[in-house]
Amino acid sequence: MVDFPNSALLQSSQQSPGLLSLGHQRTSRDLLVGHVRRGSGVRQASHGGDQAHDNTVEFGFAFGASTPTAELPLTPSVERLPPSRSSRNTAKETEMLAAQLDLGTGVFGVNEVPIPDPQPGWVRVKVRACGVCLTDLHMLKGELRGIHRQDGLLTLGHEIAGEVDLLGEGVDTWRQGDRVAIALLHYKDGGEFTVGVDFDGGWAEYVVVPASTLVAIPDSLPFDVAAIVPDAVSTPWAAITETAAVRPGESVAVWGVGGVGTHAVQILRFVGAAPIIAVDPLPEARDRALRLGADFVIDPCAEDAVEKIKSLTGGTGVNVAFDFVGTSSIELQLLAASAPFGRTIWVGANSKPFTLDVPGILLFFRQQIRGHYASGPAAVPDLLRLLGLGRLDFSTSISGRFPLSEISTAIEHLEYKVDNPVRLVVVP
Ligand SMILES: [Zn+2]
Repeated sequence: MVDFPNSALLQSSQQSPGLLSLGHQRTSRDLLVGHVRRGSGVRQASHGGDQAHDNTVEFGFAFGASTPTAELPLTPSVERLPPSRSSRNTAKETEMLAAQLDLGTGVFGVNEVPIPDPQPGWVRVKVRACGVCLTDLHMLKGELRGIHRQDGLLTLGHEIAGEVDLLGEGVDTWRQGDRVAIALLHYKDGGEFTVGVDFDGGWAEYVVVPASTLVAIPDSLPFDVAAIVPDAVSTPWAAITETAAVRPGESVAVWGVGGVGTHAVQILRFVGAAPIIAVDPLPEARDRALRLGADFVIDPCAEDAVEKIKSLTGGTGVNVAFDFVGTSSIELQLLAASAPFGRTIWVGANSKPFTLDVPGILLFFRQQIRGHYASGPAAVPDLLRLLGLGRLDFSTSISGRFPLSEISTAIEHLEYKVDNPVRLVVVP
């Protein structure tokens, strides 16, 4: 999934106004990733039932220039905080808290809403942890919208773990209380639908999702670590093992070692890449990358990253270069730092155009550019098995836990890198 792991890079590249001018966008939709399917009839998944939808784009995100129509507060406004759960005294709970974004107006708040019931084939999950991701930040700023969902109230949150609570009709493979993570993508009618982007997500006490997206988590794995697997870990996992198909001994460079690129370094170490070179302007991020498996780190503000990578690889450049940032200038650096026959993998989302010297770079050096998005259905089960066996460990990535009522604080901490977080989670 799209992510910008480093806010310093993000802000310099996008002139991000921050949440100061958080506003809505209703603009032409520049498809960034994914492919376009001609024709119509893609249907939108929704826990309240399917809605006919005439979008022609099969998956991906809609990007557009942010055009705020109103000045909104510095931080997302939590409009109304209902009484805490403990102060309520109802015999049967029928309502829950959900942090919702109005995709049309850009207004964000924690609302009290009915607890949803699962439709046939879906399952209600009691959310135990849900990640706060820069993708959410882009949605809050109006920079990003799901292809299948452009308006109305949407509960955000796409990195979810919890316990099975209620089965929809026809679901017999799960039992109440089962510990599960929720895969990011729901495949339906030839389209891909992202939880928390195209349909309601996990910044809520309960979420309803297709049973096919549930993956059992090992008893030994805490909910907060399980929650970050379906995006922040599975996306770099699939970028490395599938899209780039990194082989042991190949040299690699990673631009942006924040909330996603950090995991890329760990996974590259796991699959035997060597050397692993991490590029990031933040000293804390570079130190962390060294601790977690990078062989060399580069501060792109202090030295020429391309020259340095060439010098570290005997003048040839790396076999594989990964971008977890998403800016035009960095994408060109990836190509320049790649060896002949090298692969450059674009994972960070970039909505800005740039010029590429195709004959000079791609043609003579036989280089390849590959785009990457999310992960296939095997990634999350594979990762959870590896975590359960102790072969991989991402427990140090959980930098902070927040109750749902403090979601705006969590968002602020992510936006301004308070205490240099890797991943933050809400615990409803
Ligand atoms: Zn995410």
